[in-house]
Amino acid sequence: MTVDPIPHLKIAVVGGGPGGLATAIALSKIPNVEVTIYEQASLLREVGAGISIGQNTWNVLELLGVADTLKSGHETWTVLNMNGRSGEELLRREKPLAPSIRAPIRTQRTALQSALLAHVKPGVIQLSKKLTSIVDRGDEGVELNFKDGTNVMADLVVGADGIRSVVRDSAWPSYELKFTGTTIWRTLLPWDAVKDLDPRFEITGWWHTPTTHVYFSPVGEGLWEIACRAWHDPATHSASKVSWGVPVTNEHVESHFTVRPSFSTLLDTDFVREKTDKTKEYLPEIREALARVPTDGWREFAAFAGPELSKLTAWDSKVVLVGDSSHALSGAFGSGAGFAIEDGWVLAQALSYFRNDRRKALHLFDEIRLPYYARMYAHLEEQSTLRAAKLKTLGNPTYDERVANKIISDGGKDMSWIYGNDIGAVWKKKAESLPA
Ligand SMILES: Cc1cc2nc3c(=O)[nH]c(=O)nc-3n(C[C@H](O)[C@H](O)[C@H](O)COP(=O)(O)OP(=O)(O)OC[C@H]3O[C@@H](n4cnc5c(N)ncnc54)[C@H](O)[C@@H]3O)c2cc1C
Repeated sequence: MTVDPIPHLKIAVVGGGPGGLATAIALSKIPNVEVTIYEQASLLREVGAGISIGQNTWNVLELLGVADTLKSGHETWTVLNMNGRSGEELLRREKPLAPSIRAPIRTQRTALQSALLAHVKPGVIQLSKKLTSIVDRGDEGVELNFKDGTNVMADLVVGADGIRSVVRDSAWPSYELKFTGTTIWRTLLPWDAVKDLDPRFEITGWWHTPTTHVYFSPVGEGLWEIACRAWHDPATHSASKVSWGVPVTNEHVESHFTVRPSFSTLLDTDFVREKTDKTKEYLPEIREALARVPTDGWREFAAFAGPELSKLTAWDSKVVLVGDSSHALSGAFGSGAGFAIEDGWVLAQALSYFRNDRRKALHLFDEIRLPYYARMYAHLEEQSTLRAAKLKTLGNPTYDERVANKIISDGGKDMSWIYGNDIGAVWKKKAESLPA
């Protein structure tokens, strides 16, 4: 019996974030695939601060052969949720120590990126290649146009270009992102600079007020991360919110996280209540930690989100989205890099299974990944309904009840379908169900 030769496939991956790098690593293992990453940056470097690597992400890093390369990080067997104004512990999650599995960690984003990069074959990445559009050229493939005036053709384009994807804009032109109202500020500083403040700061944890939080975590190599969030009604706060990784002043960040004025506790009059915005109030030691961030240390990120897509593939299977471009959830589960890496790995398995038949492979990719993302959107919707209903039953909730409500409605649900996802097992089950 003769077997048809495996067709040659020229694949352009747009974006060199976790999704693009992982896709290229996985695709490079398939026969007759020529892969190139086009990245807009002139130098591959992550903006942001830390990133969590849980069991799901470790699972796919193992499959890619990258897990052993990622060495540094702070183990997060315990994580805390605290009331940021009173210091009360609201929820402590202790994962049972399991020496047989890799420890969940918080690490520097650059550590994950370097680990992935070390497994990308030389010559695969082209830097300073900012995509401006893609054009469907029918049987000839897809044309990619870059800001520098050049263009290339590819049989398949993988949009790994993040939440503000140009690939998605071209192939799904009606897709719209909206500002969620949440602004995020992130930085890294030496642990030695803050360790005198509170021993609890050495444990990964969130310190909450009703509309803001401050997240502290060591990230390994003597560094400590601060990531803070503040929510404002997007109806009144949308205009200027387009920033992503933009330097901002310390004063600007600190203005969202103030100290509770001592006179307000003594004189809890209407006058004082009007003059102080209690939703911003934090313990003095938290405020002090923010004050110790070196000048120019902060980066601001405005969180955008977009609706669920009904397909992650387009143009007769010549375009596919992976990572943030495919599910604009703005880091809602704190595991988006893991999802992006899983996408890349699954795409490669599907192409390999169908011997580079992109139509069959992309159909299978949609079948595996769409329901997963649909479940995430449904979960977030359910959580927000639950939280609103709970607030309603509280009537006129106190400050502390509002803080507690933020946490309690998040907890108690089995989230192993995300944080324990074993993409290798998911793939195996699916492949076994396919006709021989
Ligand atoms: C505040 C915050 C905290 C988070 N915390 C976590 C966490 O703890 N754990 C976790 O797993 N995930 C976390 N995430 C999510 C995670 O950062 C993303 O899901 C992940 O980076 C997505 O990877 P990606 O490769 O799809 O996109 P990105 O990381 O956004 O990479 C996209 C790449 O494409 C390039 N690019 C963009 N446009 C173009 C263009 N036109 N032409 C060429 N190149 C282009 C960019 O320069 C970039 O290199 C967090 C997200 C946020 C916002």
